[in-house]
Amino acid sequence: MKGNYDAIVVGGGHNGLICAAYLAKAGKKVLVLEKRYVLGGAAVSEELYPGFTFSVASYVVSLFRPHIIRELELAKHGYEVIPMDCSLSPLPNGDSLARWGDAHKSRREISRFSQKDAEVYPEFSRIMTHMGKLAKEVIDHPAPDINSLKIKELANLLRLGKAFKDLGPDLLHMNIKLVTMSALDFLDQWFESEVLKAPMSVSGIIGTFQGVRSPGTAYVLLHHYMGQLDGAFRSWGFSKGGTGGISMACANAARSYGAEIKTNAPVHKVLIKNGQAYGVVLENGDEYTAKTIISNLDPNQTYLNLVGEKNLDDEIVKQVKRFKFRGSSGKVNLALDRVPEFSCRPGVGDHLRGDIAIAPSIDYLEKAFDEAKYGSFSKRPYINAVIPSLTDPTVAPPGKHILSCFVQYAPYNIKEGAENWPKYREAFGDAVVDTMAEYIPGLKDMILYRQVLTPWDIEKQMGLTEGNIFQGELSLEQLLFQRPISGYAKYKTSVPSLYMCGSGTHPGGGIMGASGELCAKTILQSRSI
Ligand SMILES: Cc1cc2nc3c(=O)[nH]c(=O)nc-3n(C[C@H](O)[C@H](O)[C@H](O)COP(=O)(O)OP(=O)(O)OC[C@H]3O[C@@H](n4cnc5c(N)ncnc54)[C@H](O)[C@@H]3O)c2cc1C
Repeated sequence: MKGNYDAIVVGGGHNGLICAAYLAKAGKKVLVLEKRYVLGGAAVSEELYPGFTFSVASYVVSLFRPHIIRELELAKHGYEVIPMDCSLSPLPNGDSLARWGDAHKSRREISRFSQKDAEVYPEFSRIMTHMGKLAKEVIDHPAPDINSLKIKELANLLRLGKAFKDLGPDLLHMNIKLVTMSALDFLDQWFESEVLKAPMSVSGIIGTFQGVRSPGTAYVLLHHYMGQLDGAFRSWGFSKGGTGGISMACANAARSYGAEIKTNAPVHKVLIKNGQAYGVVLENGDEYTAKTIISNLDPNQTYLNLVGEKNLDDEIVKQVKRFKFRGSSGKVNLALDRVPEFSCRPGVGDHLRGDIAIAPSIDYLEKAFDEAKYGSFSKRPYINAVIPSLTDPTVAPPGKHILSCFVQYAPYNIKEGAENWPKYREAFGDAVVDTMAEYIPGLKDMILYRQVLTPWDIEKQMGLTEGNIFQGELSLEQLLFQRPISGYAKYKTSVPSLYMCGSGTHPGGGIMGASGELCAKTILQSRSI
């Protein structure tokens, strides 16, 4: 048994590494145990084919909290994000819509489809950005505790109440619409052109098992407007060297403050004596003890696997089992021997240096969801594609390129049973390549290597229950003081000395770092270590 640690972090995802870095910076003796050979979890870079470094899962960054970059000096440790400027929507009739960072350019493009939408678009962007700033009040603090009368909690609620009140009546009403409406209903209030609404609405369904017409998806839309890169709201970018570059910067920072990090170290169980966590045992039988144990794993893995039902109250077990995962996304990563050009805009230009949304109409998106509802992957799915090698040449050999395709819908629970996903993996990959080939002539002849990740693969490889990309759906009933379960939404679990720091806690998924940071600060404030 090896001991003497103040804290052991189970899992080396970016949140686990950030949590470790903050604790180590405060002078605590910290050990991180990661089951895989590589750090990063869903924010990981791997060279799967010689010379090609893939962002295997997450592929773009926006939500990462700027103050964490400053406080942990991440730029010094290798954090570098290159902003992207365009969002291209190719259409089956050979036309396309490109939205740019430059508002005038976007207006010109949108006016080809609707003059009215072109006029409204800048105002919509301004208001959503404003709402996104309000969301900062929510995501940069622990979730409020609505049951507590402690002064600190009441002050927290007052701060939030004031931020909402300061919105004024119009924006307050809009905020209520955002948390209750469907992404499409919300956009319908502003725009008329489907060519614009379809690619905008998909931000509302990312990582959820819902369609763009499902109530509550407008909130997920807002979640995607909360991002900040270099102080500019609503910007997305590529992490240099893939999203694993961010995780490596967090790991480097943690090590620089003295944290110890072990890979190939899968944790089997949290050790519990007299109801209190005091260590972990690895799958190889090695034991480590510490004053505090922190799990970077999702709520299901943490409570039901690491702790085990026998150590939990029935009510906690019920709540954890009710938490919805329902993975709905997959990923297809391609190594290509040349640049994939789109028939709608031939040539290689800035339009290929952003994201490319295959979302030509609302009906297209709804049909894709219909197939998932009845237990099949979409044959013509929504795809969000990027070619990171055009912006960051370090990820592919000269002249070669990566085409990364994030795909919805790929339901975890296919009608044949999730365990049968491996039989359908290549057919799913073919559906994605066939769909992309409708827009990229000659795509199939360019492919040097293909990786297909179904939600079952995401679960097996990354430990994400049911392949949910956010460690649990971002639906309203699973947010704030309900994430992951009511009564334990402030990083503490129901087991004394065991905390959680992953995306399954407030404020939720995405490469944000907030859960890791807020968990560490909660532990330090509690003075328990
Ligand atoms: C396919 C996909 C695409 C995505 N795209 C984007 C995107 O473009 N932009 C964005 O912002 N977000 C995206 N996300 C979401 C984002 O990547 C995640 O929300 C975030 O990376 C989660 O970080 P985390 O540290 O909370 O948890 P995780 O990354 O889940 O980390 C948990 C860690 O624990 C380790 N682990 C599991 N079990 C054990 C064990 N028993 N012992 C030890 N270690 C263990 C895992 O290997 C992993 O390293 C995507 C996710 C996926 C899966």
